[in-house]
Amino acid sequence: MRKMSRKWARISIALMTAGLLLAFAGVMAETYIPIVPGFALLLAAVVVKLTRLRCPYCTAFTTTPQWFGTGNKKCRKCKQLIYYDY
Ligand SMILES: [Zn+2]
Repeated sequence: MRKMSRKWARISIALMTAGLLLAFAGVMAETYIPIVPGFALLLAAVVVKLTRLRCPYCTAFTTTPQWFGTGNKKCRKCKQLIYYDY
C-alpha cells in the first residue's frame, strides 16, 4: 500500500494556519506588516502541497492534508483511499 507523508501533511497545515492568522492579524490591525509574511507562509503551504502531498496512486494533487486520521479521505481523481505513513 502506498502512503502519504504525515510529516508533510502537518507542515502544510501548520504553514496554512500560521499564514491565515498573520494575514488576519494584519487586516484587523490595519497594517500590511504581518500580511506579507502571512502570504509567504500560505504560498509555502501550497508549494508543500503541490510537491509533497500528491496522490500516491495517480500523483494528482487532489488530496486533503489531515493532522489525524487515515484511510477516510479519497483522492478526488482516482477515488483511492488515502493512507498516511503514521
Ligand atoms: Zn489519485
